[in-house]
Amino acid sequence: KNKLLEIKGLQTYFYSDEGVVPAVDGVDITIHEGETVGIVGESGCGKSVTSLTTMRLTPGKVVGGTIEFNRNNILSLTEEEMRALRGNDIAMIFQEPMTSLNPVFTIGQQIGEAVEIHRNYSKQQARQHAIEMLKLVGIPRPEQIVDEYPHQLSGGMRQRVMIAMAMSCEPKLLIADEPTTALDVTIQAQILDLMRKLKDENNTAIMMITHDLGVVAEMCDRVIVMYSGKVVEQGDVVTIFTNPQHPYTQGLMKSIPTLERGEKRLYSIKGNVPIPGSLREGCTFAPRCDMAMDVCRRQAPQLVEVEPGHFSRCWLHSSNEGETRNETAAHR
Ligand code: SF4
Ligand code: MG
Repeated sequence: KNKLLEIKGLQTYFYSDEGVVPAVDGVDITIHEGETVGIVGESGCGKSVTSLTTMRLTPGKVVGGTIEFNRNNILSLTEEEMRALRGNDIAMIFQEPMTSLNPVFTIGQQIGEAVEIHRNYSKQQARQHAIEMLKLVGIPRPEQIVDEYPHQLSGGMRQRVMIAMAMSCEPKLLIADEPTTALDVTIQAQILDLMRKLKDENNTAIMMITHDLGVVAEMCDRVIVMYSGKVVEQGDVVTIFTNPQHPYTQGLMKSIPTLERGEKRLYSIKGNVPIPGSLREGCTFAPRCDMAMDVCRRQAPQLVEVEPGHFSRCWLHSSNEGETRNETAAHR
């Protein structure tokens, strides 16, 4: 399959009076045409900043790396070229539709806007297209809803409208940031079904940003686990669920609610995500890791391929680890 998006060595930093926060710190992500890749991690791991940087909407500063979309570096496009891409070839949906839907425009105006801009549709054509899109995302009475305003719809319906907006120009890449987190479980399942259907019909690739491993299991082909601004593990979805190698991923897996309990729990990994950049040396997961060794606190581990296509960033996989540990002992 062809590479659609290739992020290499991305660094997005935030600068404030308190100092520098490397929110994304050397991230590599590849997404192929039609592929759904889950970007997983607790809040503050850098997953949302990665997606916003891909749309060139991050409030931070990109200090390193490249983001190639269809072999063009997004980071060096002009603002005009970027606008031609946004909402057309790359679209985005968010957790809370009310923040991206404009309360003073009708549903139809908002869904139609993308085809007016990118395909030169007339107002009438755009309205007709909006009605088609509303049908496609399963909204009842589309001829009526098209002239209504966002506040007249339920949360689930608004999320469908946002998906209709995003899919309006049949994007090659859909970036979905916690698209179902604000919805109740039944509506969540319907929205995921809808996304899967549209994705299959259009061969759309999806970057699925989520902290919900249930969503990952249902939707994703591959999984990228982020921690403290870095990719700590990546592999295909079955591998990550059945054979997680990084202690952080293993912790995430343990925190999945069991079927008997059937309830949603937050991660039970002790401690909190560090403020990126606050740990200058070693593995950023060390303060929370039961497996931490001396070397972990001194030196940052590299991402290593533990089996074909499966990568993990942990000293446990390094055959040199024993040597390094002995060295430490010798220096004491
Ligand atoms: Fe734990 Fe060390 Fe692996 Fe970091 S490198 S995850 S501290 S074992
Ligand atoms: Mg987020």
